Amino acid sequence: MTDHTNADTLRTPIVAVLGHVDHGKTSLLDKIRGSAVSEGEAGAITQHIGATDIPLDTISGMAGELIDPTDFDLPGLLFIDTPGHHSFSTLRARGGALADIAVLVVDVNDGFQPQTEEAIDILRRTGTPFVVAANKVDTTPGWNPQAGQPIQRSLEAQSERAESMLNENLYEIIGQLSDAGFSADLYWRVQDFQKNIGVVPLSAITGEGVPDLLTVLMGLSQRFMKEEMAIDVFGAGEGTVLEVKDERGFGATIDTVVYDGVVRNGDRIVVGGQEDPIDTEIRALLQPRPLEEIRTEKQFEKVAEVGAAAGVKIAAPDLDRAMAGAPVRVVRDRPVEEVVEEVKAELAEIEVETAEN
Ligand code: GDP
Repeated sequence: MTDHTNADTLRTPIVAVLGHVDHGKTSLLDKIRGSAVSEGEAGAITQHIGATDIPLDTISGMAGELIDPTDFDLPGLLFIDTPGHHSFSTLRARGGALADIAVLVVDVNDGFQPQTEEAIDILRRTGTPFVVAANKVDTTPGWNPQAGQPIQRSLEAQSERAESMLNENLYEIIGQLSDAGFSADLYWRVQDFQKNIGVVPLSAITGEGVPDLLTVLMGLSQRFMKEEMAIDVFGAGEGTVLEVKDERGFGATIDTVVYDGVVRNGDRIVVGGQEDPIDTEIRALLQPRPLEEIRTEKQFEKVAEVGAAAGVKIAAPDLDRAMAGAPVRVVRDRPVEEVVEEVKAELAEIEVETAEN
């Protein structure tokens, strides 16, 4: 059994998926969710507002021979639904990127495209560690699909001709990464993931290579991010607004990713606004209802609290002036003025960045 004794102090790393339009971001997220659910375990995934939480047990079930779950004590991975590039660049957390780690999806036939370059610039600027998903390997002429298999198993089943056509495309992408200033290689050849970018060939349709991607993400997080993942689970919650949305019965709400501490219903919070920070009180914390209940019940379910890392919808007065990308801070034991100043300082930083680009 997996040892989860540390799961209450180490939070889930936040993963963002980026890439050029049509290169397969949505399909990849769907595949990861779908394969996780078909693992068949209870609690295989938890759907959040704007995110999906995949626990280590599920990842380890999917990755099979590639992962030894006892090597890990991080609780899993939280994939945030891909917002557009513009919003990704403003999704900050305390001056860094909101995502702890990113997947850059590149169509293996198309290689780098304008939005790939943009994504690379953002990743470089925010210093976000990333891996490259070289997607659509199944479109290689003569490909013999091996659904859900680790990529090296799949390669064993390919003709020499198919493998060499794929390799040609993969080396093209590795060359483009190098032109962009990143030394990269196929992930199984990478010795030092802090110096080299790992490229994972995969298919978001057949799922081959997806176990490898999850393994690499877990490995990278565990090795290089463990310290940043250590949080005070009872601390005042901190988060970032993904989106401001009107919801019937609740008015303006903010879909928020909580990356530190805990947010409780009734908490006083300060949220970055279009003008001044908004000082308000949480009226409801909302999560999606489990799928089987959606048809008969309301869309959301009220929860008493959420701890990092999680996606949650917050309903509170005055949120119509909130801004996507802005910080959310629970006030708790501090003077509210101090929290307001902190939110202002963070907003100023985001504005400088946006103006520079
Ligand atoms: P996004 O714009 O990056 O979210 O891309 P989508 O996930 O919407 O994918 C764009 C198109 O490519 C869709 O028609 C997908 O079915 C297709 N697609 C995505 N991944 C793969 C793949 O691995 N193999 C194949 N054959 N098609 C794919």
